[in-house]
Order: sequence, then structure tokens, then C-alpha cells
Amino acid sequence: MLQVTASSSLQSISNLYPFQICNNPIEPAQLHALSIKTATFNDPKISSRLISLYTHSKTHTLDDARQVFDQMHQPTLFSWNTLMKSYVENQRSQECVFMFVEFISLSGFTPDVFTLPCVIKGCGRLMAVKEGEQIHGLGLKLGFGSEVFVQSSLVSMYSKFNDIDSARKVFNGMSEKDLITWNTLLDGYVKCGEIRLAKELFDQMKERDVVTWTVMVDGLSKCGNVDDAKKLFGEMPKRNLPSWNAMINGYMKAGDYGSARSLFDQMEDKNIITWNSMIAGYECNTRFSEPLKLFLELLNLGCVPTHSTLVSTLSAISWLALLNKGRWVHSYMVKNGLELENVLGTSLIEMYCKCGCIESALKVFKVISKKKLGHWTAIIVGLGTHGQAKHALELFNEMLRVNIVPNGITFIGVLNACNHAGLVKDGKRYFDMMINEYKIEPTVEHYGCLVDILCRAGQLKEAKNVIEQMPMKPNKIIWMSLLSASRIYKNIEIGEYAAQHITKIDPKYIESYVLLSNLYAATGNWDKVSHVREMIKKTGVKKDPGCSLIEYNNEVHEFVVGDKSHPQTVEIYDKLSEIRDILKSVGHVADKSQVLLHIEGDDEKEAELESHSERLAIAFGLINLKPGIPIRVVKNLRVCNDCHSVTKHLSKVYNREIIVRDNSRYHHFKDGLCSCMDYW
Ligand code: ZN
Ligand code: ZN
Repeated sequence: MLQVTASSSLQSISNLYPFQICNNPIEPAQLHALSIKTATFNDPKISSRLISLYTHSKTHTLDDARQVFDQMHQPTLFSWNTLMKSYVENQRSQECVFMFVEFISLSGFTPDVFTLPCVIKGCGRLMAVKEGEQIHGLGLKLGFGSEVFVQSSLVSMYSKFNDIDSARKVFNGMSEKDLITWNTLLDGYVKCGEIRLAKELFDQMKERDVVTWTVMVDGLSKCGNVDDAKKLFGEMPKRNLPSWNAMINGYMKAGDYGSARSLFDQMEDKNIITWNSMIAGYECNTRFSEPLKLFLELLNLGCVPTHSTLVSTLSAISWLALLNKGRWVHSYMVKNGLELENVLGTSLIEMYCKCGCIESALKVFKVISKKKLGHWTAIIVGLGTHGQAKHALELFNEMLRVNIVPNGITFIGVLNACNHAGLVKDGKRYFDMMINEYKIEPTVEHYGCLVDILCRAGQLKEAKNVIEQMPMKPNKIIWMSLLSASRIYKNIEIGEYAAQHITKIDPKYIESYVLLSNLYAATGNWDKVSHVREMIKKTGVKKDPGCSLIEYNNEVHEFVVGDKSHPQTVEIYDKLSEIRDILKSVGHVADKSQVLLHIEGDDEKEAELESHSERLAIAFGLINLKPGIPIRVVKNLRVCNDCHSVTKHLSKVYNREIIVRDNSRYHHFKDGLCSCMDYW
């Protein structure tokens, strides 16, 4: 305990300069009280040190320090500097800059060599370009142009502003440069993508530390130059965690997940950034089953996932439509009190939509109290793709009512919804609204939606006009919409026109030949059907084997066409023959027009249809999932006509909701109908 004897003892305490970081929580407050009691508070030496103590104290906030400052009759230059510096160091840069303005107009002091670096740092953090340049000018006027502290903070500030030329100018004028300044400039070059100049600087450097090397490895990795990154990584005299992480990122960016993984396995110390690099890397490289495995592994090790861990994991789960896994991650989030009012809410809504569970997506949407654009967009897009057009448009209008400004993706959701509901007029109106009211330039996706709206309504000529007048080159998807509509509306002329364009873009795209052949078959042009088959043979491309996934008992069961490898194969084929009898009794006639393999006999064609992967998955679902539980299947290809009408029957006969996500949309089969209204 400090004894309150006389002001001299306090004086002697305050002479213990420099003051050490005060670990004892009572000390600053005690000194404060003491200084008031002994009427020494106004001694600039004492109050300055009090501020210093408060700013370093773990139990006091900067606001306490500020209070002392505000009570001082005449704050010293030291106090001004201490407080400004503390603001920057505690991520309160704005207060630092405000205080500097106050300092210039009120303090009566001239900034010194300690004042400027911290304000410059603050400007850099705030990206306050104009203020930063003004302070630079002031520094020159005051004669600090060649002060190393000031110069190196300017190099850092201009690098942050992406103004690498100004950074270089200051750098070149420096008579002595420390390694930190070299590294700062190097980092600046890397951040603005000037990798060649960065390499030049790197080669010039006489001294390099682990930061230098890591910045370079990271830069090369980020610009996709993984070979050079690997070379440097190999040459590094010493590596730290960020160096390993940078290299892993490099491999993942280059799609070399094998090398990334082997590096990952070699690492003894990993941090959450390492895990995130791996998880996001796998997700970007469409290795969707890996992120979840890693996520579980990191939880087992007691690591705490960050937002980006969860976002990548949920995205991977969405691609595989692993609803139960998704629910599990959701409950993890709830248990750990993670807020949904940010990107996590959006991820969760998207996950439920992509897993075909729109009800849960809506539930999540409803509990988010401060809904942002991302949340609204995710739910509107989700409802749109699930065929719940009315609901999607209602929410869109509500969103406008609460003054949330839509973006381009929101409009994709809106246009999709109009498409599903066959709302041609509304679709056109929203398209115009997007351009004229919200000044959003339509992208190729928006045109794709508009074309599809017209196609679905059978307005093929108008759709063709839109395609021909688009400002950008139409893509394969748009031509496929037109071709697919031509098949449905039996328009050979436009169908052939679309198919020609697809062949120009992607001569080996088999789905377009399949559609064209279906169109010919539907219009009885059998010569042309065999001609298309010849063309397919010539391309030498085999159709991707159909593949369907279904989740059961926390496992993903995968079926390819004609699959007989599943342990329950016997039961599955028994179920299929039961289904065959049922279909017969309800008068179903197999639609063989889409069987395009070299299969001749009718029975064989029927057998081929029967073993389509989604039917195996649905049969598996009927056997294993309890009555009332919807069957959810994800398929890699477009659902064929016959499977579509069979699934409709099955939904009615077995009184089962069946949700199939194919490569273009969702089909909700219920009571003998599909949400796509037979257009896909
Ligand atoms: Zn099929
Ligand atoms: Zn459908």
C-alpha cells in the first residue's frame, strides 16, 4: 500500500521514470486519488504520468485516461502524444485524428517527431487519404522530411492507400531504412499486385527476415505463381506459421490440394488460419466432402472456428445437400451463441435452400432481427429456385418497403421467381426496374433469366431477339434455355439455330446434342435423330454417367446409373420391380425419347431408364427413410422426362415428398405434381 504522507513521497514515486506497465489494478486509481488529495494533480509531470499509467493499465480503459487528460489545466506535449498513440494502438484511430485536429488548434504546441508518426498511422488505418496527405505536407513544412520515424510511417500509410508510387518516393528519400520499412514497401507492392516490382525489391534487400520471405511467398501464391512460391519457400532459412499458411494457400489456389494437404500434415503447429486455408481451399476446388471432415477434426482438437470456417463448411455442405450435417452445424452455432445477423445468417439460409429445406431457411430468416441485404437476397433467391414465386415476390416487396436497396443478385432471385410462376409481364417489369430505378447494369445471368422467362411462355422469337440484342456475348446456358424450349414447343428452326451456337462455344457439350436429338424425336425426324447420334460418336465424348446422392444415417450414399455395388442392392432392385408394377397399374407409359445410348430394343430402353441413378436413390430412400420423411436427392445431370413423370407418380402412390436437385433446378414432387410445373 502506498502511504499518504506528503506530496514529496508522491513526487519521488513519479520520478521513477519510465513508469512500468502497471499490473496492479489499483495503482493508477490510487495515484490519482493521492494526487488529488495532495493537490499535486496539476503538476504536469504527475498528471502526464497518470495518463501514461492509465493507458497502459489492463483494468482501465482509454476513457479513464481521457478523463484525466480533460481535467488537466495544461496538458503537456507528452500527454497529448501518449493519448493519441494509445488511440491508434487500440484501434481507435478516428479519435486519434480528431484529437490531432484539436491539438493543432488548441494546444499551442507544435507537433514533434513523436506526434506525427502516430497520426500518420491513424490516417493509414482509416484510409483517410486527404488528411494523410495534408499531414505529410505539414511534416515537410515543420522540417521533419528526413526524420526516419516520420518517413517510415509515411511509407506504411501510402502502401495502405495503394499509392505505391508515393510510398516509393518517400522510401527513396530515406537516408537510413530499417528492415521494417523495407518489408512495409515490399508488402505494399504485393498488396497492389505489383509482383514483379516486389521481386526486384526483394532481390535488392541485403537483410531479410522471416516476414520478408513470407510476404514474398504469399505474394507469389496469391498471383497464382505457385512454382516460384514453392522455390522461395524451399529456400527460406526460417519459417513461421504465416509462411506455412501462405504456401498452403498458394497450393490451394493452384488447385493442387494434394501438395497443400501434405504440407498441412507436416505442420506441427496449426492455427485457425491454417485450418481455414485448407477448408476454403477444398471448397473452392469442389472437393466438398473434405471441409466437413476437417471441421470436425478441428473441433475435436478444441480449436474455435471463425466465421470464415463456418461459411466455407456450410457452403461445402450445401453443394452435397447434406441436410442433417447442415442442421448439426446450425445447432453448433446456436449452442455457441454465434450471431446470425451477419454473413453466417446468409450462409445458413443458403445452406437450407440448397439442401432443399425451404421451411428451415424461412425459420432462420425470421429469427434474424436486423435483416441485411444478404439475408433478404438469400431467401428471395431460395424461394425463387424452389418454385415459391409468390412468396419470393412478397418478400421482395416487403424488403423494398423497409428501405433495403436490392442488388444484382436479388434481382436474379426475383426474375427466377417470375420465371417459375410464368409471370412474363412482371418479369419484364422487374428487369426494367432494375435498370432504370436501381441503375444496375444487367449481367449475362440477368439476360439468361429474361430469356428463360420468354422461353417458358413459348415466346421463342422474342427470346431469340433478346439474345441477339444483348450487349454481351450470350453464354452456353442461355442458348441451352432456347434449345430446351424449342424441344418443348417443337420448334426445329430455332432449336437448330441454338444448337449451332452451342456447338461453336463447346463442341463437346453432349447435353445439347441430347436435347437436339430429343427435339427431332419429338417431331418424328428420325433421320436427323440418327444423324445426331453419329455426331455424338464423332465427338468421342461420353455422357457423364448420371450420379445421385442421398443422405441417410449421417452417411452419403452414392448411386451411378445401373449401380449394383450398394450393400442393399437386392432390396433396391426388388423395390424397383414393385415400382414397375405400380407404374403399370396407374397407366404410366415409359418415355423412351431421351434414351440416347446405343440401345435398340424397347425393353432394354425401359430397363435403362429404370436404373437411372435418381431412381436407385429414391428406391433406397423409400426402403430406409421412415414414412413422412421427405426423400432428398441430388443429381449431377438434368432429370430426364421419364424419371420426372415417374417421380411424380411415386410422390402420390407412396404419399411421399420427394425433392430432387438436378444440375439446373429443384423439383419438389408432392401429390403427383412437381414444383417446376413440368418445365426444366
Ligand atoms: Zn431418368
Ligand atoms: Zn420438376
